[in-house]
Amino acid sequence: AKNGTFLEVADLRAGYGDGTVLDGVDLAVAEGEICAVLGPNGAGKTTLLRALCGMVRTEGTVRLDGRALPRRRPEAIARLGVAHVPEGRGTFVPLTVEENLRLGAYTRRDRQGVAADLDRMYGHFPVLRERRTQAAGSLSGGEQQMVAIGRALMSRPRLVLLDEPSLGLAPLITRQLFQIVRTINEEERTTVILVEQNAHLTLEFAHRAHVLEAGRIVLSGSADEVRADEQMARAYLGIE
Ligand code: ATP
Repeated sequence: AKNGTFLEVADLRAGYGDGTVLDGVDLAVAEGEICAVLGPNGAGKTTLLRALCGMVRTEGTVRLDGRALPRRRPEAIARLGVAHVPEGRGTFVPLTVEENLRLGAYTRRDRQGVAADLDRMYGHFPVLRERRTQAAGSLSGGEQQMVAIGRALMSRPRLVLLDEPSLGLAPLITRQLFQIVRTINEEERTTVILVEQNAHLTLEFAHRAHVLEAGRIVLSGSADEVRADEQMARAYLGIE
């Protein structure tokens, strides 16, 4: 993208019903970046991802690669290359692992490309290859999160929105999952927005981070800069 900005968000407002949750969010994400969005419960992190993929009422500007994303048209936004992995994963528990992964490619007609991508996903997540014929619901939480991410990647997105993938996972499992996300980001140049409450671990994996509080970005910088910010450290990292 020109001038380095791949996703540009300007004065984004969003909410439910008459209520406002996002109150003027500005955000710039470079192509190929892992961008963390941190912040307390209720700050609006989930709403930000929903706004980006067209699931809530929005005002303001969202541009992907210079192109304005349509409002409230999730399918059209998905076709432009934005994939959303919602909180709680959204795997189809009675379907097998492979059926779940294939659902991510349901709009694609190139059978060979889909087969190759399926193989690539199993390369990233070898445990899913072993469990390909098992019901997704029989997998561990970490494995189900892998299915959800793998399914999103099967659409060959340019931007992946991950909503709190660590939810309910043990720290070691979360670390392994983030490691895989980083490998995918490096190998496939997929841009990632990672919403998390677990600031410590997330800052190890993100390139840049933004702190959202009460619907506004209150701090932005490289992962190191955000980690070094005193207020941030006190509020979210448990550092005195
Ligand atoms: P959490 O980590 O708890 O999910 P968050 O930062 O992701 O927090 P949001 O889930 O975006 O925050 O919620 C922001 C505000 O929007 C909260 O006050 C919440 O109650 C409200 N909200 C979220 N979803 C809805 C909805 N579907 N309808 C009405 N209000 C909602």
